[in-house]
Amino acid sequence: MKFETRAIRLQTERSHNNEHSTPVYLTSSFVFDDSEHMRALFASEAEGNIYSRFTNPTVREFELKMASLEEGEDCIATASGMAAIFATFASLLSQGDHILMSRAVFGSTFRLTEDYLAKWGITYSYLDHLSTAGWQDLVTPATKLLYLETPANPGLDIMDLSQISAFCRENSILLVVDNCFATPYLQRPLTLGADVVIHSATKYIDGQGRVLGGAIISSRHIIDRIFPFMKNAGPTLSAFNAWVLTKSLETLAVRMDRHCDNALRVAQWLASRPEVLKVRYPFLVGDPGFEVAKRQMKAGGGMVSFELTGGMDAGKKLIDNRTMMSLSANLGDTRTIITHPASSTHSKLSPQDRAAAGISDGLIRLSVGLEHADDIIADLEQAF
Ligand SMILES: *Cc1c(COP(=O)(O)O)cnc(C)c1O
Repeated sequence: MKFETRAIRLQTERSHNNEHSTPVYLTSSFVFDDSEHMRALFASEAEGNIYSRFTNPTVREFELKMASLEEGEDCIATASGMAAIFATFASLLSQGDHILMSRAVFGSTFRLTEDYLAKWGITYSYLDHLSTAGWQDLVTPATKLLYLETPANPGLDIMDLSQISAFCRENSILLVVDNCFATPYLQRPLTLGADVVIHSATKYIDGQGRVLGGAIISSRHIIDRIFPFMKNAGPTLSAFNAWVLTKSLETLAVRMDRHCDNALRVAQWLASRPEVLKVRYPFLVGDPGFEVAKRQMKAGGGMVSFELTGGMDAGKKLIDNRTMMSLSANLGDTRTIITHPASSTHSKLSPQDRAAAGISDGLIRLSVGLEHADDIIADLEQAF
């Protein structure tokens, strides 16, 4: 079946109640028929549920759908995107290992790497360029994993997944891709050679700003290495959030189509404005990532970033003049969200450090929502 159909129809077996929609199993534990059944479950000789930190049917339904949509063998759902990233690192890395990490990753991913992995004897090197040229010099016999996002937060840089996965294969390095901005509807990194895909399901997978969640999709072999960490450390997804996310997947394709249409229109409009120095959108003609994005993505996604000619003051003013758009730390919502990294998430950095991270004082990040594009553009226009 096609992506859209699997996102809706892939359902575990109905219960004796013949429910049409997916039921939610809110239970912390499960009962055993007798001592032999209990023994067999604990010995992994029989299939079944013991305790919701280990497995839960509602969570499993979300996992099976995500595995199918990303074209992976299996999936583990987690309580948040960061839990997915941490579970992957904790399970696949050991003391003495070395990792390569793109410069353009989510803020908390930096904090996990620098404040925790380093403390446990795992070293890291940052990749300063988008292409693999020069990366070979950073590889050591201890290099085990390469981590990246594409499109990346907040500058929307695009990295070439086919080229990078070939580099990783040659060097026996696992390629882990945070596919949060694209979703499996627009881009499927496992089909381009990545080994592990990570999601913050909080963003477009829910798409309605309601719940936190995360997912790890990979081969059965790698998922089997991560599952014991989940079971014993416990950053598991709640059954209720799994139910919300499973329902959300049913509308992922139609939501993403509209996000992409709206974002392209907004990006094209911004590119025509005198207040705007530069617009970044992967599917905007002339964008530095355009060629690669066209090869590996179905459409450009819902995120647009742009730089104001007026710097910090213009950024603050635009934000304060908005009448409809939300000022919020989330993204991937039905509601358009505007942020100004230099006066919020990255305000503690010096202007020099911000520049090194690709964040100018006039950079604005838009998560283009599902309102009518005319209304989003009208709000931007009056704010200018
Ligand atoms: C939000 C986000 C995360 C973290 O996900 P949470 O669900 O907030 O823990 C990781 N990566 C990217 C690209 C994100 O946008």
